[in-house]
Amino acid sequence: MKTQTSSDGTIKTKFNEGHSTILIPRSALLDKNKPTPQFPTAFTLCLSSQIGCPMGCTFCLSGKIPYQRNLTLKELKEQIETTIKHISIEDLRTKQNTKGKNNLSDHITSIVFMGMGEPLLNLDNILKFCEWLNEEYNYSFAKICLSTSGIPKKMQEIINYKYPIQLALSLHSPRQEIRNQIMPNLKQYPIKDLIEVCHEYNKKYKQKIMIEYLMIKDLTDTDEDLQNLINYKLAKYTNFNLIPLNGSPSTVDRKPSTPERTEFFKEKLREAGYKCFIRTSTGQDIEAACGMLK
Ligand code: SF4
Repeated sequence: MKTQTSSDGTIKTKFNEGHSTILIPRSALLDKNKPTPQFPTAFTLCLSSQIGCPMGCTFCLSGKIPYQRNLTLKELKEQIETTIKHISIEDLRTKQNTKGKNNLSDHITSIVFMGMGEPLLNLDNILKFCEWLNEEYNYSFAKICLSTSGIPKKMQEIINYKYPIQLALSLHSPRQEIRNQIMPNLKQYPIKDLIEVCHEYNKKYKQKIMIEYLMIKDLTDTDEDLQNLINYKLAKYTNFNLIPLNGSPSTVDRKPSTPERTEFFKEKLREAGYKCFIRTSTGQDIEAACGMLK
């Protein structure tokens, strides 16, 4: 196991099997320009679900690694236990918090499956893991987010699940031909079916689905794309997360949208009644940002 810390305070733990866990200080997510506190105490934790990823998205380095297998329940738990060790060390140093394990959510304000792998292909283990987190650490299901590349049947299982788990859909383009190009292994799932499931999720839960949207210059940021997103008429406050394309080696042939264009999308989506944020990229210098895990 190897641990690296970014200049913005993000901590990447790479396990010997090849998957990684990313611990991101909330302060780095909120304002990257402000210095990270020496001992941050609140984090978002990004977990992996598989070793390699069979989905092969062209903008993601994890998709270039040959898929090996799902992580076991033991390995999923190990990602938490390793993280707790990091945080406990900081607690001892600062003497700010000695409350113990039942207050995991004081430190880890959200857990997101946005690391290596497609979590809905390892759903049985992940749901067992969520139940374990809830029993062992009193950690709320609503603070856990599963980010999927879009498998409608599996998304439906989350909607039917007995507890409210957050769901994020990596849509990245509302045009089928472009989505097929950048997410070639998802061709069998038409966008219209994915949007249908988003409507269903939004009907069931107060907290709306998150739509993750990669901003790629002239490919996903056209006026037509923006209008298509608005035309879906998703529920008010559906949460759009615009992700500037990272300059990872897998994406050198493409450019990110300009900051002005990304800001324009944000404003227009907000005017349409959605929530919309631009994702702050953290941990780029240690290859821990979105799409850079390999
Ligand atoms: S974006 Fe997600 S689903 Fe696509 S290849 Fe990367 S890890 Fe897999």
